[in-house]
Amino acid sequence: MSDSSRKVPRFAGVSTFLRLAQQDSPEGLDVMVCGAPFDGGTTFRPGARFGPRAVRDASALSRGFAPALGQDLFQALRCADGGDVACVPMRLEQSLDDIRARVAQIARAGAVPAVVGGDHTVSLGVLRGLAEVHGPVGLIHFDAHSDTFGPAWGVDLHHGTVFRHAAAEGLLRPGAVVQIGIRGPFTAAADVTAPRALGFEVIDIDAVKADLAAVAARLAALAGQGPFHVSFDMDAVDPAYAPGTGTPVPGGLTSYEALRLVRALAGVSIVGVDVVEISPDHDPTGITALLAVGVLTELLAALAVARRGGP
Ligand code: MN
Ligand code: MN
Repeated sequence: MSDSSRKVPRFAGVSTFLRLAQQDSPEGLDVMVCGAPFDGGTTFRPGARFGPRAVRDASALSRGFAPALGQDLFQALRCADGGDVACVPMRLEQSLDDIRARVAQIARAGAVPAVVGGDHTVSLGVLRGLAEVHGPVGLIHFDAHSDTFGPAWGVDLHHGTVFRHAAAEGLLRPGAVVQIGIRGPFTAAADVTAPRALGFEVIDIDAVKADLAAVAARLAALAGQGPFHVSFDMDAVDPAYAPGTGTPVPGGLTSYEALRLVRALAGVSIVGVDVVEISPDHDPTGITALLAVGVLTELLAALAVARRGGP
């Protein structure tokens, strides 16, 4: 589906995700990539609303041949760019509901929604939409933050609370939530215990740095355990590699570690994907958007492996 760069130059044409054709209907697709340009849940520096545009531009450099597959992932999967959900900055709940409706429509058509944010609040809309079709789903969550924090300035729904809300709403399969890359400093000691109190498995950054292969094996072992959503917050990655994000935290994953761990998901049953918190104004070289493209591409390759029943 993605035009060959040997036929049409990468820098030519209208910008779409992964140089895919744009279409509105998800019917007949395996994957529909959509933008969710909303950053109204941001608590620090804003700008992630421009993430989808930056990722579309950076994805001119994407390549479809995944060695794990032994074939072009765009031949293995029928993919399209579904455009953006028309989020309204000042209307958080309405924007989440529009995201929910689009995700549910895509999932109902039998396709996997791959959503590019936007701040992490958009994932609550994604999970609501997925749960409508699939019931509660497992969650594989890459982030510096657990996003199970408390209210900010008296507001309970923001990008740092989404997975506490998702658990409370019954959107997550109990015992099937894994968080990777979590690190401090935190606001309070309770921030460390909160995700574990919800039953989440926390693989903190020290565990990743101590034994990358063991963490990859842990993620690979999620294959055969029912449907998962994968949510990738770019601030899981060290700001040395991904500075273009709203809430950077030093001491994170390298680009390689991020891609290696996503690659480990090949064969896991993935029903939804989001890549969020890309803030182009803080990304002067475009390195963060480019890494987001890499993460998205590896997630699609993992999906392709799962769909054809193993590598
Ligand atoms: Mn987050
Ligand atoms: Mn984060």
